Amino acid sequence: MDPFVYNGLPARVIFGPGSLEHLAREIELLGATRAIVLCTPQQRGDAEALATRLGNRAAGVFAEAVMHVPVETARQARDFAAQAGADCAIAIGGGSTTGLGKAIALETGLPILAIPTTYAGSEMTPIYGLTEGGLKKTGRDLRVLPKTVIYDPLLTTSLPPALSLTSGINAIAHAAEGLYAQDANPVVSLMAEEGIRALGEGLPRVMNEPGNLEARSDCLYGAWLCGAVLGSVGMALHHKLCHTLGGSFNLPHAETHTIVLPHVLAYNRDAAPLAMRRMARALRADDAAQAVFDLAREHGAPTALKQLGVTAENLQVALELALKNPYWNPRPVERAPLRALLEAAFEGRRPA
Ligand code: NAD
Repeated sequence: MDPFVYNGLPARVIFGPGSLEHLAREIELLGATRAIVLCTPQQRGDAEALATRLGNRAAGVFAEAVMHVPVETARQARDFAAQAGADCAIAIGGGSTTGLGKAIALETGLPILAIPTTYAGSEMTPIYGLTEGGLKKTGRDLRVLPKTVIYDPLLTTSLPPALSLTSGINAIAHAAEGLYAQDANPVVSLMAEEGIRALGEGLPRVMNEPGNLEARSDCLYGAWLCGAVLGSVGMALHHKLCHTLGGSFNLPHAETHTIVLPHVLAYNRDAAPLAMRRMARALRADDAAQAVFDLAREHGAPTALKQLGVTAENLQVALELALKNPYWNPRPVERAPLRALLEAAFEGRRPA
């Protein structure tokens, strides 16, 4: 076995249908007494119900979370937390809401208790993003890592099937790149393979029956593991491309990951054969790139960048941006094959 470094990230995880009932105990264990609740405008109802359940431990609901964490929203949320005298922030929602919690924690050190309701995995990472003047900056800081995460699959049954699928493939992308990461290690690879397996089995069942709690539990468990992979090891070309495309053309996060992933896997296929075998094994398929493409297509997810409104001119811009300071990748990132990759993703061709 090759020598390796494993960096375990601290977080307490409470998992299971109905686990939200332990919220008050978990806040107490954090040593907190006044929690603000963060959410998107769409999830205000859930956040308010949660605040009611907390009674005098709730310090207010801030329902302004939006995608990519604009600095102005982060500032408003920090002011809201300070005025409310909060000593803890609860983030109930997807990556956008967790991201807002992280922006508060980055400046104030307020502990975050995350209650994820999508499969994005942000709750398991010390990575934060902030957008200012249209530019998204990301960074790593342990202060933003949630201290406690409550995974309650009951809260995910309302996640629309289309978003469940793309969010699940977004999670698979973290694990896929974790398997061939430059700093991959055997422990994180175990989590990656198991995360892909759980999502590969759970997602088709969720698509057939969105209220199936067993399937929802499998997916949320898989998302947790995939998020932990994202938090532990470095990502490569796929995450770079999605960041570039999403940030430059304001594309929806999970859909962009869903469309791009099969093509990056095909690009890296020969450079990372062991990772590809493990992924294919987890998905019970012969080829990882085709299996991810088929998972998306068979259940009606978008498979072409042009479906998201990307234009041929945008592709050229994305190509130039991705070639500037590329991430480490198992196969060198070169103009001609990268151009071919982007064209295949643009057209939505099944990887050969
Ligand atoms: P999201 O948080 O933007 O949620 C999408 C929509 O779904 C929102 O309107 C939300 O309110 C709604 N929603 C969420 N859960 C729901 C549920 N159970 N039922 C009904 N509606 C629900 O989407 P996302 O894909 O989870 O997160 C994307 C964002 O997270 C991006 O900005 C991305 O960059 C970031 N992200 C960050 C990290 C990290 O490590 N920092 C990791 C992954 C994603």
